[in-house]
Amino acid sequence: MILKSKRGLILILSSPSGAGKTTLAKKIELSDRNFKISVSYTTRTPRTNEVDGVDYNFVTIEKFQELASQDKFLEQAKVFGNYYATLKGPIEDNLAKGIDYLFDIDWQGTEQVKKIMPSDIVSVFILPPSIDDLESRLKKREEKNKELINQRMKMAKDEIKHWKDYKYIVVNKDVENCFEQITKIIKIERELRSTFNQIN
Ligand code: 5GP
Repeated sequence: MILKSKRGLILILSSPSGAGKTTLAKKIELSDRNFKISVSYTTRTPRTNEVDGVDYNFVTIEKFQELASQDKFLEQAKVFGNYYATLKGPIEDNLAKGIDYLFDIDWQGTEQVKKIMPSDIVSVFILPPSIDDLESRLKKREEKNKELINQRMKMAKDEIKHWKDYKYIVVNKDVENCFEQITKIIKIERELRSTFNQIN
């Protein structure tokens, strides 16, 4: 039996916008020091509470296209008129060192990463308890911007259609309970990987 050093995993969290994914990602990062959150690049305008370099790297379309043409992105997608991407950066080196990553990306990006690094990913789809619940969360966040709420609701329904392509599905009825379930998934997946490493 050869014991290999443990390779990190990529936890992909996808959900419709407003299903509580960002809160969950931050909770995971705070509770588990082995996780790094991948900060995506986007051409979207920042929301009032968002900080450049922390929530996203906010860039112009020109800068985004320049990075894409230099093959700097691991995956990329266009979501409702805005571009989003994950920078390749040191991901491969860090995974090899045993560091885990958390990707908050949509189904299009998940499909791409699944093809490039199938055995590294653990995909989790977070569902809201109901469509009405999602709508009221979006109303709280986007306040009175009715057009934006309608756009996000349409986007949510499109995103939800892809839940079947994920390994795990978690319903976010209660954030603590949802967090607990994701913590269990991480534990199981780490154990599976360490068993696999021991028998290979
Ligand atoms: P929001 O604009 O609400 O922050 O995000 C809109 C959607 O884009 C969400 O579903 C989010 O998961 C997704 N997203 C954020 N960053 C990335 C990324 O780097 N790649 C892909 N493919 N999707 C992303």
